[in-house]
Amino acid sequence: MKCVYCGTEFEPSRSNQKYCSRDCYCDATRLMQNAKRSQRLRQNPELRRQLNRKYKLARKERQKADQKRPIKESVCYMCGKKFIPHFKNEHFCSDDCRFDSPLYRDIANFDLWRAL
Ligand SMILES: [Zn+2]
Ligand SMILES: [Zn+2]
Repeated sequence: MKCVYCGTEFEPSRSNQKYCSRDCYCDATRLMQNAKRSQRLRQNPELRRQLNRKYKLARKERQKADQKRPIKESVCYMCGKKFIPHFKNEHFCSDDCRFDSPLYRDIANFDLWRAL
């Protein structure tokens, strides 16, 4: 069985298991939620404006907090390069690698959408 997110081979402990690890599951879920949300936002410009304002404030707060925290490097699942993650459990160094991942290749696959 191949993890639908990072492509790693693994032994599923349940027949419907799609991810090699909880990390992959969380990451994939978040990506799917983001995709669903941006779809919704595209249809609602007013909500988008409100959220943008909120995000800007939240980002400033996070940047302040980040300066105090030591930066931990991650290793990219696709190319193996070390990189500084922008959020917890980020697995890809760049959008290029992210779009090369099995999850993105299958993003049009509705079975996967339903599974989340
Ligand atoms: Zn995985
Ligand atoms: Zn990479």
